[in-house]
Amino acid sequence: MKYVSTRGSYPAVPSAEAITLGLVPDGGLFVPESFPLLAPSRYAPGLSYQSIAHAVFTLYLTDFSSAEIDACISSAYNTETFSAPSVISLLPLHNNQLIMELFHGPTAAFKDVALQIMPHLLTVAKNKLGATEQTVILVATSGDTGKAALEGFKNIPGITIIVFYPDGGVSEIQRLQMVTTNGTNTTVVAVKGNFDDCQTGVKTLFSDSDLRRELAAQSAVFSSANSINWGRLCPQIVYYFAAYSSAVDSGTIQSGDKVNFCIPTGNFGNILSGYYARQMGLPIGKLICASNKNRILSDFFATGTYNRNRPFYRTNAPSMDILISSNLERFLYAVTGQQAEKVSAWYNDLAQNGTFTIDPETKKAIDAIIVSGWVDEDTVAATIKTTFQETGYILDTHTAVAVALSAEQEDSVTKTIIAATASPYKFSRDVLRAIDGSASDDEFSCIEKLSAYAKTPVHRAVANIRERHILHNRAITIDDMKETVLAIRANS
Ligand SMILES: *Cc1c(COP(=O)(O)O)cnc(C)c1O
Repeated sequence: MKYVSTRGSYPAVPSAEAITLGLVPDGGLFVPESFPLLAPSRYAPGLSYQSIAHAVFTLYLTDFSSAEIDACISSAYNTETFSAPSVISLLPLHNNQLIMELFHGPTAAFKDVALQIMPHLLTVAKNKLGATEQTVILVATSGDTGKAALEGFKNIPGITIIVFYPDGGVSEIQRLQMVTTNGTNTTVVAVKGNFDDCQTGVKTLFSDSDLRRELAAQSAVFSSANSINWGRLCPQIVYYFAAYSSAVDSGTIQSGDKVNFCIPTGNFGNILSGYYARQMGLPIGKLICASNKNRILSDFFATGTYNRNRPFYRTNAPSMDILISSNLERFLYAVTGQQAEKVSAWYNDLAQNGTFTIDPETKKAIDAIIVSGWVDEDTVAATIKTTFQETGYILDTHTAVAVALSAEQEDSVTKTIIAATASPYKFSRDVLRAIDGSASDDEFSCIEKLSAYAKTPVHRAVANIRERHILHNRAITIDDMKETVLAIRANS
């Protein structure tokens, strides 16, 4: 399997190179040149998560040996890293809705599933290429990626990680999770701006040729842990198959039945992996793309026009507060039948005017796969409350966006599997407020109360956060990002 650029102007490369580079130097994103089929026997009921992962990775990481793939899988998916032995868990919610819990990793967000394994994939990839440089991972985060990347990459030899987060744009728990990270190779920086400013700032650093030269002189190179890296997307494909396998195993569906997946969406990485699973033969009916008040994607799917010239809102689901959904580009590339010229033209329009409009043919192809919509913050709160009252299950604010939307889309036949992307403990204040109207701003007391309502122990990712020491307190402006990277390099 080779990887090509969505913009069409870069030679096809093996997976090791795609993972090592992150972004394509021509500005596009690496995508597999075709979609391999995964035989149903490879995700038959009863198979372990690890064996399904092995089957998926074997198809995509064709330059990795079977032993290398196994080593990566066992380093990432074990009982120390994931509290659920099956890595994810699938449970019935109500009616035809099922919940796919993706938050059993060390930081309580679905991003752990990919970020626990990605550093190992990257290390193998570098060895394969004979790359001896220090890899400097730059991450822009709206909250969850940052901590998940820090936990995945900390203390990995040959790698330094620098995380930029929007000052005031993440929850207090998310902030504390990040700024208390230990490890010899981690730095966390608050940036005065929103997530898109951070992401644009990081992209600017990546494309700064002076900076790249300076790093090269120090025998270092940039890479990315954002979901623009193939090493993030590929592991996410696995849980779509694993969830399906589990649904058949429990007798909820018959093998071969279609299911819908409903995904709370920001950067379009999670749902894109679901689309890739569908392309690989998984019987997925619709992919339901759930947006919050920053509804740029649901507007795009409704109208065919992507327009980022709009206000940015900070909501109670901050990991979805995004106006640039990077991975949409990969979806458009696939859904147009790999028309790189079209994709390039749209993304040039986006860069120049902040907007682009797709043609009716592409729109039609998308409509056959994607259903989308958005819900406001009040609906999120009401959904958390009624779900708790009716089922005793406590949703986090992001998952609640998806539950609300999937209820609107419900049909009486097809089961819908909803991705639970974060533990409610991570957003305790907003979740508790939704349940009992409590107005406390003290996240720690909210965590305790939530635990009493949920009748479950507090997620280990937030359990003892109050006792941890704050180790990172840099706060900078967007214009200082380059200087900051150089200063961190100079001190390391
Ligand atoms: C990152 C994140 C999302 C959005 O996922 P994308 O892959 O960016 O679409 C949704 N919910 C939570 C809790 C997240 O951390």
